[in-house]
Order: sequence, then C-alpha cells, then structure tokens
Amino acid sequence: MPSETAPAEVPFIRPSFPGPEEVAEDITDIVQSNWYANFGEREGAFAAALAEYLGQGLHAATFANGTLALVAAVQSIMDRGDGSRFLLMPSFTFVAVAQAAIWNGYRPWFVDIDPTTLQASTDSALGVLENARDRVAGVLLPNAFGVGNPRIDDWERLAAEWELPVVIDSAAGFGSRYADGHHLGGHGSCEIFSFHATKPFAIGEGGALVSRDPSVVSEARDFQNFGFDDSRQSRLLGLNAKLTEIGAAIGLRQLAGFDARLASRRAVFDRYRTELGGLGIGFQANAETSSLCFATICCPSAEDAGAVSGALRNDRIGTRNYYNPPVHRQSYFRSAATPSKSTELSVTESVCSRVVSLPIHDHMETEHVDRVVTAVHKAMTR
Ligand SMILES: *Cc1c(COP(=O)(O)O)cnc(C)c1O
Repeated sequence: MPSETAPAEVPFIRPSFPGPEEVAEDITDIVQSNWYANFGEREGAFAAALAEYLGQGLHAATFANGTLALVAAVQSIMDRGDGSRFLLMPSFTFVAVAQAAIWNGYRPWFVDIDPTTLQASTDSALGVLENARDRVAGVLLPNAFGVGNPRIDDWERLAAEWELPVVIDSAAGFGSRYADGHHLGGHGSCEIFSFHATKPFAIGEGGALVSRDPSVVSEARDFQNFGFDDSRQSRLLGLNAKLTEIGAAIGLRQLAGFDARLASRRAVFDRYRTELGGLGIGFQANAETSSLCFATICCPSAEDAGAVSGALRNDRIGTRNYYNPPVHRQSYFRSAATPSKSTELSVTESVCSRVVSLPIHDHMETEHVDRVVTAVHKAMTR
C-alpha cells in the first residue's frame, strides 16, 4: 500500500548511531562476559548515567521501551483499575498513552489542548473534575512532542488541589528542558522516556522511568522483572520489560556527544522559526529548549497545512502530520467496545487539521534545511 511514490531525499527522521566498530567492540565484550540481560553491568551503568545526566535528586530505571515504562508508571503510581474509572489525558498525543491506561484497567477520558502550547489544557480538565471527580483516578500528562509544558506548574497545582496522581509521558523529550531550565524528568510522580530509533536519544528499542522518589523507581524495577521480590517470588502483577545489555551499551555510547547533537537540532529549529515565523505559522512555546524529535508547525488553516504538506512531498522532503488523526478518532477508540470518554475537543479538532511536522536531524545539512524552508515558504505565499 505505497502512499508515497518516491522515497524522500530529505528523510523525516535520520537516526544517529554509534559506529559499527564501537558496537562490535561492545558486542565482543558482552559475549565474552556471557551476560545479556537481567540488570547486567552495562544496564546498571546506563541507569546511573541517565539519572546523572538529568540532574540532581533524580533516579532512573531503564526499560525495554517507552510504552512498557508508561505501563509500569501507571501500575506503580496508581495500582490497577477495575475498568470503572478514568485517567485524564489529551487525545492530541500518541496512542500509547491511551493504551497504557487500558492495559492497567483504566479508561481514557480525553481532554482538550491549549491552542498555543498544543499541551493538555488545565481548563478542560477542570471542567471534567467539577462534574465527575469521583470517576477520575489520575492524569496521564504528555509533554507534547517532548517539549516541556510551559504550564507544568498549573498542572501540578490542579492535581494537588484535586488529589490526583500525575504520570508524565516525556517519550520524545529526553534532553528537553522545562521553562525553569531543568531537564524533563523531575515532575509528576514520575516521567517516562522512549529511546526508540526515531527519538532524538535513540538506542533502537528502549526507555526509562525517572522520578525524584526512589521507591517509585524500585517498584517499577520489580514490575519489569515479573513482579519478583528479593527471593524471586512474584509479589505484584509484573511483566518482562527489561533492557538488554547491548541496548544499555549503545545508550552509554549515545550519551557522549548528545548535547552537541541537541545544539545542532536547536539551530535548525531556530532557522525554521526565524524564516517561517512571519507567515502566520505557529511554533510551540519552549520548543527551542527541547530535543526536537521534529518541528511541529501549526498553519493558519487546514488548506495551508495541505499546501505545505504537498509542497514538501513534491520536493521529496519527508513529513508527517502528528497527531492527525488524534487518538479519539482512531478506529479502536471510536468503537463502542472501547470504553473511552471525551469532553469537548474543539481545539484538538482544529489544531490536528493544521499541523505539519518538519524534519530535524542531528547536524542537518544546510542545503536540506534550505529546501524545507523554501518549500514551506512557497506553499504559504501561493
Ligand atoms: C514514542 C512515544 C511513545 C512510545 O515509546 P516506545 O519506546 O516506542 O514504546 C509513547 N508516548 C509518546 C508520546 C511517544 O512519542
């Protein structure tokens, strides 16, 4: 079912990996030690390095991927639901957020987003809480596109006032910063990250759960190893979500030079914003301090977004329209069998028709950045 006729000459995502010689060296060491999984030496070193990178007072558990880290986060913070209660979350996000709720016995209750930050709206959540507080068990709050929510403090105030636990999905935001300059990782009860090949910090498949509270991290570690206690007896409903030694070894390599790669990504974003900002295109607040998995632009109209997407494809530039369709419009979540609920989603409906995702790579060639700028410019001044 080919939807694009020719492969992109400017790819949408271009992962950077350690060189094959370095990976070969790691594999040789791992095979010599004959230890491949289950909290090996490299996994321990990687978990410690992640916490150290993110900042003082943070603790980290590694994971096989970001989705399992999210499932573990909900399980560790909120226990299991019985299918009768809801977790608040935006529909304008990746489908794994809603799936993590359902796998834990909760139902998604979709709230609207803020039109300028594209982050979940506290006003929309307040509307739900004022009418149905007893049906809500907690909040699954994504940092949209890995950008630290500039209004994270409003969310934490709301959650404290209504006594709701908050799990933050910062999947694409390893290395991003909140408006106060701190790395993502320290808000809510915990934050999770994805190290999928398509994220700015990539190891292939991998993830992490990060918290200020070491007991949350140790609960998540038990969860990811079948819920075993120290005597290898299952004491909670766990599963297998452990990171391999080779994944951890690649992660350790990826940390070296990561900040320089992020700086190069932010320079691309700055150029997009400088050259395209005058055309009525909106950029997410605080994106300039994020890791920029890609650049999300919000066009004045759906027609503009269509023209921009078309111009990019015409010039063989890889592009997407994240998150269109939003979660509540995807078939599983639309079906009567899926017990999700939505509040008024007019901003989500409007924004999702107007977003275009522009490519950002580590050390992206100037010529490629120029091509993106020219295509968007041409479409917007058509
Ligand atoms: C990528 C992503 C995930 C899933 O992470 P995986 O490591 O692929 O499981 C979850 N939530 C959001 C918001 C994401 O962007």
